[in-house]
Amino acid sequence: MKRRLLCCAVIVAVLAVVTPVTTSFYERAIASAIPAIHTENRTIMPAVAEATAAPVTSSVQALPPVKTRSNLPILMYHEVGDGPNSLFVRDSELNEQMRYLYDNKYTVVSLATAVEMLKNNCIPEKTVALTFDDGYQTFYGKVWPLLQQYGFNATVFVITNKVDAAPFMSWNEIKILADNGVEIGCHTHTHPSLKALDASKLPAEILQSRQYLESNTKTVVQTFCYPSGEYRQEAVDMIRQNGYTAAVTTKYGTASSNNDMYLLPRVRISRGLTLQEFAARIK
Ligand SMILES: [Zn+2]
Repeated sequence: MKRRLLCCAVIVAVLAVVTPVTTSFYERAIASAIPAIHTENRTIMPAVAEATAAPVTSSVQALPPVKTRSNLPILMYHEVGDGPNSLFVRDSELNEQMRYLYDNKYTVVSLATAVEMLKNNCIPEKTVALTFDDGYQTFYGKVWPLLQQYGFNATVFVITNKVDAAPFMSWNEIKILADNGVEIGCHTHTHPSLKALDASKLPAEILQSRQYLESNTKTVVQTFCYPSGEYRQEAVDMIRQNGYTAAVTTKYGTASSNNDMYLLPRVRISRGLTLQEFAARIK
């Protein structure tokens, strides 16, 4: 138990330190995470947190302990704008959803960070992860400015052979995102169904596409997204056994510490959700 609590303290402290985001995020992460970790009727003052918070001891001690939970919603988005299908979320909807998360003091993280929280069973009570599939240019043009404005992080899943052609992002844009701490995840090279794909082609889609991403972004790619949510055991095993930390499906649900980290469900955010419906999905 002590070890888990300590992991928890380290995660929230690291989250506050390494996530390259705005001051408001630091303030909110520290305010929500540093003072104490309270789980199952026990409260500890983590050593890392105490060291970080030393100059403001009196005000920190006055804050209430952090409540944690064992699950979190991983939100699934695709395109932003007025498009031909429900994969497009309107600008106004995305704006009000991000504003809602900010106003309601959510901790908004990348999938890689969410996975660390899930594995350690340590999730601040109001936490969501943001994922955007396919690597559309609207992520760079519309989503990223909002992430910067609110101090959020997210994961964008890139299809490597689509890069540099409309409506997808360029390598230059992806590199800028990676340099600024946005998580870049792998969404294969050509977006095939991994359920039906010939076994000889799996390594190119799962492993070589990741190498291609890593060499272009100079970052470590940790997470994977199954195209159209389709997979078979052979593909899952290849992802699990070759250095990825997690993979997401399109199965609807809130991710839990009890889930297989390589078959994580997500909460689809599609066009036309009212703010009340959005709020209900992330509860
Ligand atoms: Zn996709």
